[in-house]
Amino acid sequence: MANITMYGGVGEIGGNKVLLEEGKTRIFLDMGQSFGFGEEYFTGFLGARDRFGLRDYFELNLVPKIPGLYSKETLEGTGYRYRKPMFDGIFLSHIHFDHTWHLRFVHPDIPVCLGEGTKIIMDSWVTTSKDFFGEHDFQTFRTGDRIKLDGIEVEPIHVDHSVPAAYGYIIHTKKGTIVYTGDFRKHGSHSELTEDFLARVKEERPIALICEGTRVASEEKRKNYTEAEVKSHSKAVVRKAGKKLVVTTFYPRDVDRMRTFYEVAKATGRKFVVSAKTAHLLTALGKDPGIKLPDVIRNKHLLVYVRELKRYPSWEKDFEKKAVNAEYVHKNQDKLILQLDFFHFNELVDIQPKKGSHFIHSKSEPFVEDDIEEEVKNNWLDRFGLKQHQLHASGHCSMEEIKTIVKDIDPKVLIPIHCEEPELFKSMAKKVILPILGKGFEV
Ligand SMILES: [Zn+2]
Repeated sequence: MANITMYGGVGEIGGNKVLLEEGKTRIFLDMGQSFGFGEEYFTGFLGARDRFGLRDYFELNLVPKIPGLYSKETLEGTGYRYRKPMFDGIFLSHIHFDHTWHLRFVHPDIPVCLGEGTKIIMDSWVTTSKDFFGEHDFQTFRTGDRIKLDGIEVEPIHVDHSVPAAYGYIIHTKKGTIVYTGDFRKHGSHSELTEDFLARVKEERPIALICEGTRVASEEKRKNYTEAEVKSHSKAVVRKAGKKLVVTTFYPRDVDRMRTFYEVAKATGRKFVVSAKTAHLLTALGKDPGIKLPDVIRNKHLLVYVRELKRYPSWEKDFEKKAVNAEYVHKNQDKLILQLDFFHFNELVDIQPKKGSHFIHSKSEPFVEDDIEEEVKNNWLDRFGLKQHQLHASGHCSMEEIKTIVKDIDPKVLIPIHCEEPELFKSMAKKVILPILGKGFEV
């Protein structure tokens, strides 16, 4: 028997932490942080005292006490006994923080296995922010590699998701194959990746399928397009914009969306002005032969927006040749599509877009009705006369797609994860286990 314990991703979207044990082998699938992490105790300037490592998180039951997982440093001052590492590895499915962010607590000697592309994205993230995932023994893989541990063999296969280098895992144990989907979709720019994964999974006739269910919900409230639709609708917005500016915002590591807006700019004779962070990520990923991206420095359709700062981070200097400022954007509104993240909306003060310019919100619609950020965003848009368009392709399969996939794979046991209504999985397979947080079960 293999044992599975879920320490996150139970009855919620994100926060995945799955412990898989067979014989002496113990691995974690993902090490994420929940989206609403700590929101019942922390707000505004009231937060956890990170200088005390896990002390506040343990006291408030926000992080599970797992022997042999955490670093000496994070346990100091918690009163919880330090133990030598007791895990063979942590396998990351992709870079999103709801799958990776608790790595910062993990013991540096526990190997962290991740896709080559995921490591590149992580390095770019760390370079361009104050965030830090901690010191680790990183071991990178590509699709088709097999990672042999004591009693099990882990086979990562690429899937399509809203970030490059996303993987599902096929885990070969003595008792049979266990599959973990990570996050995945079929309507993105690279559905063939997901098809490769699903075809391989089907061959295996898994004893257990741990399947994500972000969009498995009794009601789908948000509008969803395919990546191709986001592109065609955005093109239409830009074509109609005439002399006016088009501004857009999307998730910081959604490289497909970056490519989409780049292609829209090319097709409409405009230039795509990306943030310095986006330029850094595109340049870093450009080195990965598996990911085709335009070269920020050489490509004539790309420019880099540089904010006026007192001091510039050294990595921004790489883009000096392509740098443009607010004044340039103001003067060339009819020739540009500008990436402007919510936290940089104050740049509008300097850009002064023409009234009736356009804003493409290329992210999920807000999850709650009285979302403060949404209200503030709308105030800025109103103040500067920007017309809003909602155009986004989700990173996840629809409920109907999940149903078909599960039926097709026909696993002995189905285990939902990353889903607010896991009970909706009950009718999808003969045997469904609804996990309880922190309580192990056998498969
Ligand atoms: Zn994700």
